[in-house]
This record gives sequence, C-alpha cells and structure tokens, in this order.
Amino acid sequence: MYAYGPVPSRRLGNSIGVSPIPAKVCSYSCIYCQLGRTSTLQAKRQRFFPKEDIFRDIEKVVASSSADVITFAGDGEPTLCSDLGWLIRKSKQEFGLPVAVITNGSLLFNEDVQADLLTADIILPTLDAGNPDIFRRINRSHGSITFDNMTKGLAAFRKQYNGQLWLEVMLIKDVNDTDEQLILLRDTVMEIQTDKVFVMTPIRPPAEKWVECSDPDRIKAAEQMLLNAVTVADVEIGDFGVLEFASAAEAILEIFARHPLRLEQARAIEQKFAEPGIVENLVQDNKIVINRYRQTDYIQPLKPKMGTEQIEIAVNRANCCTYQVTLRSKNQERQYRVILADAYYDNLARGLMSKEQVLEYCFQYFVNNGLLDRLEAKFVLRDICRQYPEFEKGIKEMIANGESRYYV
Ligand code: SF4
Repeated sequence: MYAYGPVPSRRLGNSIGVSPIPAKVCSYSCIYCQLGRTSTLQAKRQRFFPKEDIFRDIEKVVASSSADVITFAGDGEPTLCSDLGWLIRKSKQEFGLPVAVITNGSLLFNEDVQADLLTADIILPTLDAGNPDIFRRINRSHGSITFDNMTKGLAAFRKQYNGQLWLEVMLIKDVNDTDEQLILLRDTVMEIQTDKVFVMTPIRPPAEKWVECSDPDRIKAAEQMLLNAVTVADVEIGDFGVLEFASAAEAILEIFARHPLRLEQARAIEQKFAEPGIVENLVQDNKIVINRYRQTDYIQPLKPKMGTEQIEIAVNRANCCTYQVTLRSKNQERQYRVILADAYYDNLARGLMSKEQVLEYCFQYFVNNGLLDRLEAKFVLRDICRQYPEFEKGIKEMIANGESRYYV
C-alpha cells in the first residue's frame, strides 16, 4: 500500500500520504528520526515500485476520502524515487488537489530532482545545521552528500521555484540550539530565502535515545533568530483515515510503519473497526511494542532481531582518534574503546562517511558475523583488520555499497 490516510498533519491539515519508496530507505540517518535508524542509506535515485501501481493507490484513497492535500513523504526520502516528478504531475492533473513534498532536501543539488519538484505546490525541506560538523552529527548523511552541496542545492532550487518553500528545523537540546548554532542556521536560512520556517523539536521517540527536546527558552530564541519562525511542538490532533484497510490490525500496522502512532490513536482505530483488544494481540504476536516517551505511549515496531537478541550500537568520540562503542541488548551491555586513526579511516571510507559511521558499520559487521568474541575491550581497528584480512574486506564492501543494516 503506497497511499494512506488522510492523516492529520500539523502543518498541512488533512493530508493523503504517499510513500513511493520502501521502508527506511533514506539519504540521511538522522539522530532524531521518529522511524528509527535508516536501514538502507543511499543517495542514488531509482524506481522502487511501478509508478502506475502507486498512482492507482493514490486514486483509491482520494476517491474514498476528503483531504486538503496530497503529500509525498514516506518512511524515508521520497526524492530517491525516480518517478516522483511523473507522480506529482499526474496527481495534480487528475485530482485538482495541492501537492506537497516533505523531503530532507539532500538531493536538491541534482538537476533531475529539482525538475521533479518544480510542479509541486509546497516543498518542505529540512535544515538542521548551519555548519558541516553539526550537519554530520545530526543528519549522518550518505557519504556523497555534504553540507555544502546540500545547502547550495536548496538555494539553487529556490531561485527557480515559484511555489511555497517551507523549511523545517529540528531543534535538539545542546546540539543545534545554542546561540552560536542558531546564528549559523539563520545565515544559511537567509541564503536559501524560504517562505516560512517551522521550528520543531523531537516530541516523538527519536532514533537515538540520548536526543532530547530543546527547552522552551531555546525554542523561543530560535523563533526570533530564524526570521520569525513558527514553532510546531504539539502532537497532531484528528483521526487517521482507515477506509482502505480491511481490519484494525492491518490499519495499525500500515499506519505506524509510516507515521508515529500514539496508543490512543491505535485505540481509536480499534473502535472504528469495532475490534477491541487488537493492540494487545499485536503485542502478543511480537508485531509491535508499546514504548513510553515523554509521558505518552507510542506504538512502535519490534526491532529486527539478531539471533535471539536485539543489539543497539552507539558510537561516541572519546578524544581525537579514540571512540567509545557501546553494544546494548535487552540483557547485557558491552563496551569497547577503539582507536581509528585518520590514515586507516581514509583507507576504509575514502571520505564516504564520518568516523562514527565507519565504526557503526564495523561493529555491525562484527555483530552480523558473530565476531564479537574475537575483540578485546580495547583495540586498534587497523591492527585487528590486519590480523583478520577478511574483516577489512567485509567492512569495505558494506561501506562501498552504502548499505547499512542496523540491528537495533
Ligand atoms: S528524519 Fe527524515 S531524513 Fe532523517 S532519517 Fe528519518 S526519514 Fe530520513
């Protein structure tokens, strides 16, 4: 199912959502992503599904509901779909509804992407950083995307685009909400010349547990400094359209895969289908979990499993070349101190990604291949890869493919 809803949107009203890409295929892996870490990090556009199938799905949802807007968004980056331009043009011709695109904006330096988005009515790109360091820290982009080409792409697109460009800034406590960072952000916003700026903060469960919402005084400061931005820090209200679903279970599983779903909203779906207790059945069948975040219960996916346990990988820099890597599963936690010197990092990544991302790939490789027992608590990455040459080969292959499959 590619089209769904309408879903209540805090900025767009009643919106029919369209996801033209598979789950969590994205050019970023943002630390605040409400859909978890990116499972396939890629920057190359492609056709994922037949465009006619996607269009037929939109047609069905439009026919069965009343909506304010059709929004291409999805559970990843929609501009990775190479049929996006065709889908936007055809939707506008056939339905007479405005079309919006929620994008991370990372591919707007690509002229094909610019051409595809020109006919949309509203484009909502993301801008979370005013310099390359914070950009890498927050958005964890595919190695081919830099802060410079991303911002130049946004500015170049603005020059040709006559529709509404609404920038979205996600404020994260102590990361991009200091005065210094807000000044850099303001300068970048001014270069891009957007019609509106929305300030948001991660009010829903983020991909990384350490991510926190900005304090109200920092949000106020951002509103003023970012050219009278508007803050969107409340949860959306209103019901999800569920007519295209055959059962409450199907509706809950489809909606929460694309859109954060609060427990109260899942209960409303149960009521619409007169199927009480479906949430509990899905929990029992290990299809969903209920997690509490900021005093609210959310329906979330049961994360992919590695053997019998789920493992989360967190990488933090200790000093210039030393990193603390923490692997967490339900019942245990392991910590490693790893030295990754610049020369060996260049050999592995060739500028494709940050050192933290390289280490995530390495540990993912170790986890996937059951190699953790061969690691000491402290080690030099180059030395262990020289000792076991197949490690280096495997890690390089994963990096070159731009593929990351997290077990979190
Ligand atoms: S927040 Fe958007 S851009 Fe960032 S990882 Fe999630 S889907 Fe991709």
